[in-house]
Amino acid sequence: MSNQDSVLTELQTALPHWRPQMFFKSSLVALSHAMEDQVLANPDAPLVIATFQQERFYRQEAHRYQRIAAKSPQVYVLSAPETEFQDASDSYETIAFDTTDALTQEWHLVIIGDHYANCLICRERQLSETEKTPIAMDTHRRFEGIWTFDRQVSGVAAQILLTRIAAYRPELLKKTQLAQQRYLNNVCPIDVPKAGVNALATGNPDPFVNRLVSYLQVGQYKLLKAYRAIAAQEQRERLLHLMTSAIRQSLNPDEMMQVAVEQLGPALRASRCIAYRCDALALSATIAHEFHTAGIPPLTGQPWPLQGNPLFEQVVATHDSVFIPNVRTDRQLPAGVAKQAVAQGIVAWLWVAIFYQDRFLGMIELHQCQTEQKTWTAEDVALAEAIATQLGVALIQAEAYANLEELNEQLAALERTRSNLVAITGHELRTPLSTIQVCLESLASEPDMPAELRQVMLSTALEDGERMRKLIQDFLTLSQLESGRIQWHIEPISLEECIELGLSNTRSQQAKRKIPTLVRGNWQDLPMVLADGEWFVEVLVKLLDNACKFTPPEGSISITAQPNAAQMMCLTVADTGRGIEPNRLETVFDRFYQEEGALQRTTGGTGLGLAICRQIIQRWGGTIWAESAGKDQGSQFHFTIPLADPLEE
Ligand code: ADP
Repeated sequence: MSNQDSVLTELQTALPHWRPQMFFKSSLVALSHAMEDQVLANPDAPLVIATFQQERFYRQEAHRYQRIAAKSPQVYVLSAPETEFQDASDSYETIAFDTTDALTQEWHLVIIGDHYANCLICRERQLSETEKTPIAMDTHRRFEGIWTFDRQVSGVAAQILLTRIAAYRPELLKKTQLAQQRYLNNVCPIDVPKAGVNALATGNPDPFVNRLVSYLQVGQYKLLKAYRAIAAQEQRERLLHLMTSAIRQSLNPDEMMQVAVEQLGPALRASRCIAYRCDALALSATIAHEFHTAGIPPLTGQPWPLQGNPLFEQVVATHDSVFIPNVRTDRQLPAGVAKQAVAQGIVAWLWVAIFYQDRFLGMIELHQCQTEQKTWTAEDVALAEAIATQLGVALIQAEAYANLEELNEQLAALERTRSNLVAITGHELRTPLSTIQVCLESLASEPDMPAELRQVMLSTALEDGERMRKLIQDFLTLSQLESGRIQWHIEPISLEECIELGLSNTRSQQAKRKIPTLVRGNWQDLPMVLADGEWFVEVLVKLLDNACKFTPPEGSISITAQPNAAQMMCLTVADTGRGIEPNRLETVFDRFYQEEGALQRTTGGTGLGLAICRQIIQRWGGTIWAESAGKDQGSQFHFTIPLADPLEE
């Protein structure tokens, strides 16, 4: 059977002057035990009625009720069944009420003997959101109700409960009537206490007991407060731990920032939490990471103005957080900033810097958009700061990791260079060295060698010696250029003279082997250019050298010069040789690049010439590039060089 009426309400209706008190569950347990012990210690055979919210609570006390039942035939226990509890008449009466009954919310103990009477009629209170602690503790459950030694109040409570018992179990009607006659005959009428007089004070004859209950309650309050503080601390540590693990799992700054806003926003009950990277002088930031509650307009992707915002400036300057409890009433805020806040619905505004050591990295902002919502305490701000600190460390870690990756790539490139160098050295140095060795050995071991053969041997050895010298020279030049160890003498020089020098160097090779025809461009009255003459000639010689190497003797090579729109002279060395594939036009400038690979080459060379040219030209602010219509279509190498004096339009 189910009854939806609360016994406490019924009692309060009957006794309107009795105001309910608040009790923690732990106090109720102590009081109930004290009341039961009183029964066990007294010679009276009292009426005992006990209501348990659930069978499991009754189970914990069942043995006590066996002992109480030995003292009195009038013992009633009511409870909502879970497994075994049911209506029964054993050593005492058990009454099972429905799990939907109002009694499932209540806790009663009524004892009426000849020499004493007391009752405890309470109802459990549903906790509001602010009263709840993160982890529910049974002893913190709260009840409201009446606890008194007043015989009349106890009598009314017993009357209400006996009537219910007879309704739940009609076969007990006679027994309950007997109880009424025996214990409740002299209870009525109800004594109305004077208004304003504390119910407990008038109802309880023993002030010591009262004090004991107050002591118990205060103890429980203290416990609850301590527990709340521990729970808040625990929440902070959990959040920090979560952040640290998220950081450990990722080295992606975006992921970390997102974790931070998603954790911090709900933890601090914010309407919105945003985080962004920016430097100390930023004029604005773009919001990339955000948490917001339902109904709050998002800011993601929007530009967020920072210029002239004193809150931003203060946080950047001091690294301390700034908290404005209400932007609408804050007189210090410039109108523009207040307008920006109001436009986004912000009421309370918290700014927390993300920094590492002295380096400012970005900002976390917390917005509270509901006026009635509780704003942040000093502990909340400390939590936000702790998370910002973690984030700062994580961002620096991620940055260091990215730098490390870049460094690794550079190392890998260096390693490739080194192995290329080994390959080149293996081939380019070992081959001529063996030739030189064979020639010299033959000369030494055969003193009778004919004079012509002797001459051939000597010139071969000398030629190969020269090849080795070039490779070593090129390698040293490139490493000097790359490490910036060269002393430059950039000055106005005659373009014509330099070209002449380059050409004469190439022509001098004509004596040794047949080279393609050199076609002289029309470059009289060429302007002066700004360069280091020695290195400029070096570039020309290398380009002309290449053109000779990759063009058959029957082909031709031309050199031309003309000013371009950027007030630079553009020089072109063009040949009619083997050309370059379109996808190789940039690669030819890589160190050690050789189309056929170092080990198969027949033309000699080091693969360093064009890399050296690019390094030199870049020093005076020029550029070099190659063009070719493709295989066997010839190549054109262009490079620019600044003019000493601007040309007249
Ligand atoms: P190398 O000493 O091998 O000539 P370079 O750096 O001067 O080294 O040139 C790199 C590569 O670029 C050459 O091996 C060749 O494959 C290609 N190359 C350079 N100049 C020309 C050219 N004029 N015609 C065709 N290919 C060229």
